[in-house]
Amino acid sequence: DVLQQLCREYDLGQTQVQMSASIGVAFYPEHGDMTEEILKKADAAMYAAKEAGRNCWHLFEPALIEKTFDDMTLVNDLRRALARKEFFLQYQPQLSIDGARIVGFEALLRWKSHKHGLVSPARFIPLAEKSRLILQIGQWVLQEACCFAKKLKTMGRQDIRVAVNISPRQLKDKAFLDKIRDSIAVSGIQPSQLEIEVTENVFMDALEESVHTFRQLQTEGVTLALDDFGTGFSSLTYLRILPVNILKIDKSFIDQIEFDTRQLQFVDSIINLGHRLGISIVAEGVETQTQLDELRSCDCDYVQGFVFYKPLHEQEVFELLKRY
Ligand code: C2E
Ligand code: MG
Ligand code: MG
Repeated sequence: DVLQQLCREYDLGQTQVQMSASIGVAFYPEHGDMTEEILKKADAAMYAAKEAGRNCWHLFEPALIEKTFDDMTLVNDLRRALARKEFFLQYQPQLSIDGARIVGFEALLRWKSHKHGLVSPARFIPLAEKSRLILQIGQWVLQEACCFAKKLKTMGRQDIRVAVNISPRQLKDKAFLDKIRDSIAVSGIQPSQLEIEVTENVFMDALEESVHTFRQLQTEGVTLALDDFGTGFSSLTYLRILPVNILKIDKSFIDQIEFDTRQLQFVDSIINLGHRLGISIVAEGVETQTQLDELRSCDCDYVQGFVFYKPLHEQEVFELLKRY
């Protein structure tokens, strides 16, 4: 078929390239009687094919247009959200495995839209990435989180780190390093109070530059965490090349350890590997006491999950710290 014909190796003199194609299909007259209309719908179907992982075809369906329309509305409202002060942060505690100490807080972005109510980050962050709005929003998160860290410092708790999620676009921004430095300087916190969380897929195309950026930040005292560890395709490559201080094992692994010894052995091995490399381990999304016990037997360092605390409002954090 067409896909097979297109998807082969092409010889470009010196180099061979492997081509792939994403095809969108729309029919006349079911999907319209004007050429433009059909092309538009085939185009929407093509984007669906790309999203489905490329190298495949997708048939047009009305829901695709609806989704595009919903996305566009949401992006428009996202554009105004900063000015309207619709964003806020919550902070999820990270504790030592025995639950005795709070070692950090992860700053998690929340969007309370006047129009849509509370929108899940899983929904709006990908849209913010696509539209590049994440650059401004991420900058706001960074400053807000540093502000929070400053309050901790004022309380005499600069031993507690504040972790900020950084999106691929932010990391590729040439001014990234300076923005981090500025946020630290302006808020008046110690660099050691700040932790940067990045997910594996961030580095796909810019591993070299990331290594440089990471080294620099590390020498200045900022902590670096590799988020969602194990979910990407080349987790070990990243671990081998990137200088990281903390590894966050993804919730999808933790979910399995109660029932499946193989999964438990797997998590145990990751923890050992991390420790051999001088890296501390955070288990993410820990929900039950059994999971906690298993992780303790694996010598995991830190835990972030509902078993201890959900993400909290700033005020709740200050209340909580009276007890730790
Ligand atoms: P993440 O960085 O892996 O954050 C952890 C997510 O797991 C959070 O979801 C947190 O609420 C959730 N979680 C923690 N413990 C548990 C648990 O025990 N059970 C369950 N079911 N969930 C738990 P949230 O806040 O919805 O954030 C989702 C994702 O959105 C984050 O995943 C992160 O990738 C992204 N995100 C959040 N804030 C920001 C931000 O400021 N910037 C960027 N670029 N991404 C962000
Ligand atoms: Mg994170
Ligand atoms: Mg994670």
